[in-house]
Amino acid sequence: MPLIEAFRQLLGDTAVLTREEDLAGLTEDWRGRFHAPALCAVLPSTTEQVAAIIRLCVAHDTPVLPQGGNTSLCGGATPSGQGKPPVIVALTRMRRIRSLDPVNNTMVVDAGCVLATVQEVAASAGRLYPVSLGAEGSCQIGGNIGTNAGGTGVLRYGNTRDNVLGLEVVLPDGSVWDGLYALRKNNTGYDLKHLFIGSEGTLGIITGAVLKLHPLPTAESVAWLAVDSPQAALKVLGLFQASCSSRLSAFELMNAKQIELVLEQVPGRRCPVAEIDAWHVLVELSDTGDAAALAATMQTVLEQALETGLVRDGVVATSEAQRKAMWLVRHSVSEANKKAGVGLTSDTAVPVSTVPDFIDQAMAAVRAIVPGLPFIIVGHMGDGNIHLIPFFSFAEWDALPNRDETAQRIRRAMNDVASSLRGTFSAEHGVGRTLTGEMIRYKPPVELALMRAVKQAFDPSGLFNPGRVLPPSSATEVTATSPTNATS
Ligand SMILES: Cc1cc2nc3c(=O)[nH]c(=O)nc-3n(C[C@H](O)[C@H](O)[C@H](O)COP(=O)(O)OP(=O)(O)OC[C@H]3O[C@@H](n4cnc5c(N)ncnc54)[C@H](O)[C@@H]3O)c2cc1C
Repeated sequence: MPLIEAFRQLLGDTAVLTREEDLAGLTEDWRGRFHAPALCAVLPSTTEQVAAIIRLCVAHDTPVLPQGGNTSLCGGATPSGQGKPPVIVALTRMRRIRSLDPVNNTMVVDAGCVLATVQEVAASAGRLYPVSLGAEGSCQIGGNIGTNAGGTGVLRYGNTRDNVLGLEVVLPDGSVWDGLYALRKNNTGYDLKHLFIGSEGTLGIITGAVLKLHPLPTAESVAWLAVDSPQAALKVLGLFQASCSSRLSAFELMNAKQIELVLEQVPGRRCPVAEIDAWHVLVELSDTGDAAALAATMQTVLEQALETGLVRDGVVATSEAQRKAMWLVRHSVSEANKKAGVGLTSDTAVPVSTVPDFIDQAMAAVRAIVPGLPFIIVGHMGDGNIHLIPFFSFAEWDALPNRDETAQRIRRAMNDVASSLRGTFSAEHGVGRTLTGEMIRYKPPVELALMRAVKQAFDPSGLFNPGRVLPPSSATEVTATSPTNATS
């Protein structure tokens, strides 16, 4: 094929993958739910190569699929199986840390850098890059920016959008936008970087980024609490916020079913408290000050919570190993859920004050469809981001009549409750392919029209990640969605 030949001349043979076995890990998503062919995958090493690739794709009228670590949970990073097979532009070879400025507290990186590498390099300079998530060993900065990834540090540091100061992007016409500003103030017209953050590969390929760094905490205190209800957890959150302010860096909620599955499915995990209670909270405080003072604050708030009966049991990690073990339980939820069965996860955010209402109302709405269905519940409670997961064993799922329709009704029921609380159906994973139908149902037409105008302005030929984020303008119904086994 002339296009593939042109890629080989541009990049060399080893940077152009066409054989099925070489493409296998790139054409199927992390959950193994979506699989469709690609024309080929190309592995550029520089921004100039990315630009040349795009110009070739435009000349051959061939769709482009930007791909990072391929850990998307909404089918955003693998071929759609509709229309022409795309060229996957995988940034795995673009892994340079371009520079680190400890005075400006910024770092300039290639978009293919793995998140964990960025965290490590920042830490070795005494700085923190605070975005943290279960997939951090494989997801890339470009993918994090493409999805505006959240994770466990949002409560204190914000999501990816809050930690990006500048971008370099190859646009759909093959030109390069150098927006690598390392500035905290820059009021010179529209802030274009924000359009690319969360655009899921539909507006251009991010090739470089200026990341915001923070002081590396010198003290951390992590506790595991057992509570009776989400209402109690909310009150405990209030206690910590009142006493700790921004030193509260994580507040994660899990129900008993979630803990049971982690212990069953992931070897080496154990429950930090004596019994698996109905609800569990992992709370983290961090600070640049004195470790003993931080530990004392944790102790004081915990005592208050125990005395008032809000917390049934609690353990504070007394060593780095214990702290890591607690976080490992939290970070094992996606793996456990994927192994255990089929979960129809929501990626809901509601105002933090309404999290208990959301959980109660959405569970009731789902159980009106499938009586007695168990739920896994896990989420970044401090951000109001809850993954409510109606759960089927594989055997129950196989035996379920009208499976797709039932899954659709369940998802609709949860998202309708979220919407009635002024919440969102996608807090952190993005829209990808699985949630384009929800865009029609829940986004005001004015908002959708503006988004379509933006897409048209950047990508008039519609070659960039077609079928993602925006539903076709002819679509009027919520399209079929697919079950999701992963949660974050
Ligand atoms: C175990 C596990 C835990 C997770 N936990 C969380 C969590 O806590 N919070 C959270 O938000 N997400 C979580 N995720 C989802 C996922 O890790 C994030 O969405 C992540 O940001 C995706 O990064 P990636 O490099 O894998 O991107 P990919 O999956 O490769 O791509 C995701 C999207 O971004 C686009 N894209 C990728 N690279 C670029 C680029 N260079 N330029 C433009 N567009 C690009 C793709 O086209 C696609 O639309 C989790 C996933 C797993 C498997």
